Amino acid sequence: MSKILIIEDEDAIAELEKDYLELSGFEVDIKNNGTEGLKAALGMDYDLIILDLMLPGIDGFDICKRVREEKNTPIIMVSAKKEDIDKIRGLGLGADDYMTKPFSPSELVARVKAHLARYERLVGSAQHKNDVIEIRGLKIDKTARRVFVNGEEKAFTTKEFDLLTFLAENPNHVFTKEELFNRIWNMDSIGDIATVTVHIKKIREKIEVNTSKPQYIETIWGVGYRFRI
Ligand code: CA
Repeated sequence: MSKILIIEDEDAIAELEKDYLELSGFEVDIKNNGTEGLKAALGMDYDLIILDLMLPGIDGFDICKRVREEKNTPIIMVSAKKEDIDKIRGLGLGADDYMTKPFSPSELVARVKAHLARYERLVGSAQHKNDVIEIRGLKIDKTARRVFVNGEEKAFTTKEFDLLTFLAENPNHVFTKEELFNRIWNMDSIGDIATVTVHIKKIREKIEVNTSKPQYIETIWGVGYRFRI
């Protein structure tokens, strides 16, 4: 359940907002002065803050600024004066939305829902992790198609990247050059299995400390290659 903080000194307005939000299934806390409002906004994990501008103690401008220094919680600012809304916009405090009082509680609820959905999408996409293979000092970022050796990025061609990734995803399995060629190159592409040998050599030069004693891609004489883990 999403938790909403209302910072509002007019009790009637705060209660009305609370009633409507609770009816829509939100959990709501009210703080009726700026000092307590800021403390709650920073100290607790709210999903969204409805922030009045004119408040006893610390005003809405300062609260918005202070919260933004630490958190990305969506903030809807409300004020009785249209001029104040223009001023808030002008200051670029990082509020996500602005409403002029009086507003209909159902519009407030609609905006709260829209901002929560938007924020969840943002957070959700930020948490989307890249698909990474890590073996000892070798790191293959499949999503970004980048390769790092002991933290240092190495430039890979498309086929080198595909070949290394395929081997690393199938460790301890011996593949013949034919199998690798068929797998990574199209059957009808120009080239032959010697291409595989050339690419393995290039990959080793990038990822191995000592190419004559490879720790990742082993040569299995007379058969092919195997990725060791
Ligand atoms: Ca007020």
